[in-house]
Amino acid sequence: MSREASRKTFSVPANDLLRRVPAWECHVHTLFSDGRDGILDCAARARDLGLTRIIFTEHTEPWKARTPGWFKEYAAQVHEAARLHAGALEVFLGLEAPATDLRDGLDLSAEMRAAADCILGTAHRYPGLEGRRVRDLSPAECIELEFETLKALARNPGIDAIAHLGGTCGLYCAAFPEDLAAEVIRMAAQNGIAIELNSRYHQPIGRMLDLCVQAGARVTIGSDAHSLDEIGTAFAALLAALAKEPS
Ligand SMILES: [Zn+2]
Ligand SMILES: [Zn+2]
Repeated sequence: MSREASRKTFSVPANDLLRRVPAWECHVHTLFSDGRDGILDCAARARDLGLTRIIFTEHTEPWKARTPGWFKEYAAQVHEAARLHAGALEVFLGLEAPATDLRDGLDLSAEMRAAADCILGTAHRYPGLEGRRVRDLSPAECIELEFETLKALARNPGIDAIAHLGGTCGLYCAAFPEDLAAEVIRMAAQNGIAIELNSRYHQPIGRMLDLCVQAGARVTIGSDAHSLDEIGTAFAALLAALAKEPS
């Protein structure tokens, strides 16, 4: 499947969520990198919760992997989970790949790119850091580098969705300004790239949904789960946010 076709499979128009929130978990880490639990256990938890889809999105940075050469075994286990739950829970092979430059570079091997169903593009260590750490930047520099990285992702034909927009900046430096977030969302919407509604970084999550609705963007639903307990968090947060809105 081309990335253009897969994007439609792995996201929905934000507006659709106002009628019904898909029971999806689209951002999960496991024992292959910095998660606490294994793939089969995570898939079983998603099914127990009544979710209809889980996408494993392991980190691609080599230094985050617990063992070198992990990818083949990771792919094999995700495919095994898909087979075990066929007909009850969709299980997809995804990756979370950081931008490596301000064009379309991603930290992603050719093998990963060919095998992955779904690719989340992300701003982790910003291009242009030149050996500095994100936490050592001034708030203004951090916001600028996050913005430039996100704009590159919003034009990157190699990804399906942008993970935790503004999250790295918010975690280490300063809240990412909403007008800049809105600009990234508009660019992504024009290019058919989805925005992740992330329960770990986007609080309140309903605000990010509103921005996506206003821009006519597509969205995915991701908890950035690093343990069994966190699976389904984003789905639950969206249900709660929408229940509170006046109809
Ligand atoms: Zn991330
Ligand atoms: Zn993640």
